[in-house]
Amino acid sequence: MKKYDCIFLDRDGTLNPDSGYISSLDDFIFFDFTISSLKKLAKAGNQFCIITNQSGISRGLIQKKDLDEIHTYIKSEFEKHEIPLLGIYVCTDHPEKATERRKPGPGMFLEAEMDHNLNLEKCLMIGDSVADIESGEMLGMDTMLVLTGRGLESMNFIPVYETPAFIVDDLSDGAKRLCP
Ligand SMILES: [Mg+2]
Repeated sequence: MKKYDCIFLDRDGTLNPDSGYISSLDDFIFFDFTISSLKKLAKAGNQFCIITNQSGISRGLIQKKDLDEIHTYIKSEFEKHEIPLLGIYVCTDHPEKATERRKPGPGMFLEAEMDHNLNLEKCLMIGDSVADIESGEMLGMDTMLVLTGRGLESMNFIPVYETPAFIVDDLSDGAKRLCP
């Protein structure tokens, strides 16, 4: 069973269907396999951190209080199922005015590294977009592309030198690969 210092998780398209700029808790739902897959990975001793770009805030499409409500719900579900979550890091930058916090920038990962004394080279990044894989590769992490969300489309845009360590159907498949 593979144990990482921390498994970084993208949110939309990885943990939940990505309907685009999810602006209310009513529109947020985990994939039906998300919790069981994370429980399996947690049993192997892994802990988690969610790293999410939410430009809907700076685009005026999502209210901060609604985003907070969604993240409070996510935290409570992790807690309920005893899945260790170190934190949820959010970047609300607009892509046209992006700081280095916005993936594929390294900012949020470096904050998590500092906050929780992690060794990024012993971490894994799981996501469905090119930006997820790029940020992971640049920071020397293992990377896993899930083919949910934008995953299939992303396959066409990931340069060969950034080929993910794992390409899996979804988080459930990923958990099986890491913890057979
Ligand atoms: Mg995503």
